[in-house]
Amino acid sequence: MQSIQAALESLKKDHRFRSIPNIDYGADKHVLLQERHILNLASNNYLGFSERAEIRRAAVIAAQNYGTTSGASRLVSGTYGPYDALEEEVARFKGTEAALIFNSGYAANLAICSSLADRNCVIFSDRLNHASIVDGIILSRATHVRYRHNDMAHLEKCLEKHAGTHRKIVITDSVFSMDGDMADVAQAARLCKSHGALLVLDEAHAAGVLGQGRGLASELGVADQVDLHMGTFSKAMGSFGAYVAGSRTMIDWLMNTARSFIYSTSLPPSVIGANREALRIVQNEPQTGKRLMAISKDLRDALNGMGFDTGQSQTQIIPVILGDNGATLAARDFLLQRGLLVGAIRPPTVPKGTARLRLSLRADLTDREMEEITDTFRDLRQNLPVVGNES
Ligand SMILES: *Cc1c(COP(=O)(O)O)cnc(C)c1O
Repeated sequence: MQSIQAALESLKKDHRFRSIPNIDYGADKHVLLQERHILNLASNNYLGFSERAEIRRAAVIAAQNYGTTSGASRLVSGTYGPYDALEEEVARFKGTEAALIFNSGYAANLAICSSLADRNCVIFSDRLNHASIVDGIILSRATHVRYRHNDMAHLEKCLEKHAGTHRKIVITDSVFSMDGDMADVAQAARLCKSHGALLVLDEAHAAGVLGQGRGLASELGVADQVDLHMGTFSKAMGSFGAYVAGSRTMIDWLMNTARSFIYSTSLPPSVIGANREALRIVQNEPQTGKRLMAISKDLRDALNGMGFDTGQSQTQIIPVILGDNGATLAARDFLLQRGLLVGAIRPPTVPKGTARLRLSLRADLTDREMEEITDTFRDLRQNLPVVGNES
């Protein structure tokens, strides 16, 4: 106990102690915080779907028709008609033979890595990949080769070095969660083909947004070169759970070996109902993601014009890299006082010395709200000159 207490103290000293914010409902565009309405740029609710009446209704109807639980893991008895329907709809949407629903993106990544690889395999993983991929690789016991972020020349060298390995898997986020940049999927696919490696793409931040909701691979026209597509319903789609889409063979293998699928109760009807409705809306309103990309570019241009460092962001995820942990927290608090909620992301979530504010824009922000955001950052720039010097 004493050593844990000491470790906690050390986290606090480093400005790395985490606590849950006191927010009424964190997915809304405006959240109530200390009795004030704050514009929320910290949620992954990129399309504002948490507020869509049709999705709420679909969840309620599914709960009324089927109940509040699936009652078991999927393979035992935890299944019902809409579950199978959702998987068929996802496969059709993604243009794959089959799809399988997982309880979360985290569970899906654990499943993919640990089912496809064992101690005789090598998994090549972008250095900035999501923590769930890292955990999946550890669980698989495969050799873990971390290539430099989005550096395809380095990936190629790594693949050459392991040419003798019987199974090689390359796995990458399509849109990186803390940087908002995009993976070079086309080049990764070429390398995988020429080196006999499987390509797995995590579209968590792109599903519902890019490629008319199908993801970055679809936007780039290389979806058919990806062996396994993973995407979540928990971010842009405004609900919960994840899908994995690919060939019948791949999906059958996951269904038979993925422990996070086999040994966990499947999703409840309300969630499946919401997911199906969200998927329907994305297909009916494919232009929403485009508006989100456009307002994101405008804000990045404005921030860069003020001298802020937004890294390599190309999407609705915009980091404002300040470097220092304390300065990042101070900037976050400043923005909160001015009515903006943004994330303050620190190591170990991001590399040391790259602490940052993280803005996630959403398609339902009005032009006026975008102006307010720009003005508030101009204030930040002027009022905390120290913060600027840290970057
Ligand atoms: C959020 C995220 C996940 C995890 O998805 P959950 O549904 O929240 O568990 C996986 N991969 C990436 C890249 C993510 O951003």
